[in-house]
Amino acid sequence: MTALEERWRRVLAGKEEAERLAGRPRGSVCLVAVSKFHPASDIAALRGLGQLDFGENYMQEARAKQQELAALGIRWHAIGALQSNKAKDAAGRFHLLHTLGSESLARALARRLPDGAAQDVLIEVNIGEEPQKAGVVPADLPAFLERLLQEDLISEKETGLRLRGLMCLPPRCGEGEQARPWFARLRGIRDEMAQRFGMKLPELSMGMSGDYRQAIEEGATIIRVGTEIFGPRPIKPQQ
Ligand SMILES: *Cc1c(COP(=O)(O)O)cnc(C)c1O
Repeated sequence: MTALEERWRRVLAGKEEAERLAGRPRGSVCLVAVSKFHPASDIAALRGLGQLDFGENYMQEARAKQQELAALGIRWHAIGALQSNKAKDAAGRFHLLHTLGSESLARALARRLPDGAAQDVLIEVNIGEEPQKAGVVPADLPAFLERLLQEDLISEKETGLRLRGLMCLPPRCGEGEQARPWFARLRGIRDEMAQRFGMKLPELSMGMSGDYRQAIEEGATIIRVGTEIFGPRPIKPQQ
């Protein structure tokens, strides 16, 4: 077994243990393998073992890997900051875009989406209200959602931008128990928004290498794990 396979299996086992501890069905949490800066060959190797979901932060790198690995049936997740002027590279090209945080991005994505196509999105919430982090702060979330709905930018319909839930990168992220209260808070906000707007918002994308177990216990449906699977990240993308 390669070191990569070993690490991946260890994360899968950790995920299953957390699912069990949380009383959640085995395999119900989606593991996104965060492959930024790691070579396409590592992605292909894991795909061969059955890993389906991969996450990338940078559009140029993501598009290159998507093209190179197009035959493998990978579900790609866009998890990095996305400028509105890159919306054309993202709209309709990802299984899920985790980082919708502004009306201008929503407008740009909607405009770039081919007729009849759909793009599933999550709203990124700046749960700790940290100035250096992206996302909508909790206090602004109701008004943000209201505007998106009013302008018909998001919906739960078959086509267009489909809002599936929320994502966060909390303070102390990756630090195990330190992150747990923030995960619980995101779940609470999701429940509130779902009720207030009569939407389902089933997905919660939270938890990474150092805290995915806690995230699962607090209700994550999607975890984004890089280092624990691929090892430390190279400084630059590897092709
Ligand atoms: C890089 C990244 C991850 C993965 O982080 P690890 O600590 O390597 O698991 C998860 N989420 C986002 C948004 C990231 O940018």
